[in-house]
Amino acid sequence: MGREQWKAALRHPVGAVAAALLVALALLAVVAPMLWGDAAEETDPAALSQGSTSEHLLGTDALGRDILLRVLVATRYSLGLALLATAICVVIGVLLGVLPAVLGRRAGRLVTAAVNLAVAFPGLLLALFFAVIFGVGARGAVLAIGLAGAPSFARLVQTNVAAVAGRDYVAAARVAGVGRFRLIARHLLPNIGEPLVVNATVLAGGALLAFAGLSFLGLGVQPPAYDWGRLLGEGLDRIYINPAAALAPGVAVVVAGLAFTLLGESIAQVVGVRAVRRRRVPAAEPAPLVAAEPAAAAVLAADDLRVGFPAPGGGWTHPVDGVGLTVRRGETVGIVGESGSGKSLTALAVAQLVPDAAQVTAGRLEVAGVAPLGRADAEVRELLGTKVAMVFQDPMTSFNPSMRVGRQLAEVTRVHERQGKRAALARAVDRLRTVRVPAPERRAHQYPHEFSGGMRQRAMIAMGLMSTPELIIADEPTTALDVTVQRQVLRLLKDVQAETGAAVVLISHDIAVVAQLCERVVVMYAGRVVEELPVDRLGAAAHPYTRALLASVPDLATDRDRPLATIPGRPPDPSDRPEGCAFAPRCEFADDACRMRPSLSAVAADQRAACWHPRTRPLDLTLDAVTGGQA
Ligand code: SF4
Repeated sequence: MGREQWKAALRHPVGAVAAALLVALALLAVVAPMLWGDAAEETDPAALSQGSTSEHLLGTDALGRDILLRVLVATRYSLGLALLATAICVVIGVLLGVLPAVLGRRAGRLVTAAVNLAVAFPGLLLALFFAVIFGVGARGAVLAIGLAGAPSFARLVQTNVAAVAGRDYVAAARVAGVGRFRLIARHLLPNIGEPLVVNATVLAGGALLAFAGLSFLGLGVQPPAYDWGRLLGEGLDRIYINPAAALAPGVAVVVAGLAFTLLGESIAQVVGVRAVRRRRVPAAEPAPLVAAEPAAAAVLAADDLRVGFPAPGGGWTHPVDGVGLTVRRGETVGIVGESGSGKSLTALAVAQLVPDAAQVTAGRLEVAGVAPLGRADAEVRELLGTKVAMVFQDPMTSFNPSMRVGRQLAEVTRVHERQGKRAALARAVDRLRTVRVPAPERRAHQYPHEFSGGMRQRAMIAMGLMSTPELIIADEPTTALDVTVQRQVLRLLKDVQAETGAAVVLISHDIAVVAQLCERVVVMYAGRVVEELPVDRLGAAAHPYTRALLASVPDLATDRDRPLATIPGRPPDPSDRPEGCAFAPRCEFADDACRMRPSLSAVAADQRAACWHPRTRPLDLTLDAVTGGQA
């Protein structure tokens, strides 16, 4: 964080109050024991249990000791113990919170279940339980309060990690082969730091209160030591004689608790603002952008690929249900279909990015010469990390917001090629230049939010090019972009494909977008491939679903006064698909034969369709009409 951000935070009233309270408390904690430590211990037999006097502003205790001085001196012990308990709570909470992301699925579930069980117990009950176990005294109380707060902090970490783990930039890091520990340290924890810091400071306030409670009950700090809780307990005995004796430590606890809470708020604001520092780009020689050797072999070969999820009532549902897909080296293939057709999940299964709960099976799955199924995660990352690149739909979520773009790109080569920082950053700048990001040296040192949407998508493609990918999977890469930027990104993908020789799989719900870039189109419906054909044969599409998708593409001749053609009905729920052809409820040609599931069969030399009644009459459209002249 830069000086300007700190200044901005302190200019805010909340930040200013928090800073003032914190500085005052810190000063007190340091100087009070030095200045008044001895005076606070001095007994005065002539002034036992006095009320407020000019000599003792808040009165004296039963031994004639000055209550105000004792409250001030107790600041160090009270804050120190509360911070120590908070540190224990945060460290154990973070460890328990990230464990499920580090361990395998079963062990992770066990940890999660244990944390959930511990959270079910009231915190105070847990603290008393641990206090009894660890023994009466300050040390026992610190351990008790720290351990009692750890499960709820661990739950918070788990929830936040789970929320961030689904982001595209985490998936991108996983595709790039970033290991689990590095993933947690670089991509997960920094992006959940804000809620953790806020909660840790709130926790410190809670720990302060809990300590006061335990000391008040006689389980915490023991005489002759004293903290605010002990002073509160002693003052309460004489509250009718001298109310200030109980109120003063009580007010101290409340003010300190408030200081921690306000501090949490102001820190949250400060860490939300990122500084933009510029550094000189090292002038290292960038590695050449190596073109993949063209070869006849397929870079992706999948037979009977299935992705299943546990069904609520038992058993499995399969959103991807027996997909067969082959992509040759250097080929550009588009996968098209409505939402829920299984196209994105198919791509995630290929890149080994499906959620933990999913089960992927296949008769055969080979990606860039690697059969990933049945292998350990680390092995797959090592094998595929440099061979497969992913470009995701939302350029905003595709990057880790807490890391500079250049550093994120550089991470790919640092992990896989053990390259030094300078060389990796130089390559990142070179790749940004390749994808036509202007002023790449400067841009490499900016954060993702400083890039426009189109530029972020270019940078995402540049990340894929940091190694020498054999397969680039672009999942709806242009959906979030306007038409002009969409065309630029598609053109860039085309150029990158031509330059590197990598195969490209473009996933889109828009058949016009696919037709602009691809040589071959694979149409998916209800988790299966229903038609496969070259783009230049789209006019001869045989499957009623493909023809319906094409009919819904507007062209220049479309009457704008009439509503656009749509496909009636909705795709079936994966858990409730019809027995035969899944498209039957929406198909005007359905008959009794369609009660049986059709398999993918040749309808022309280079075209296959899964339909009992493939259409043979050519459609009245040209490729130019589908693509708007952008093919
Ligand atoms: S198999 Fe029957 S229901 Fe399915 S698309 Fe073909 S004609 Fe329509």
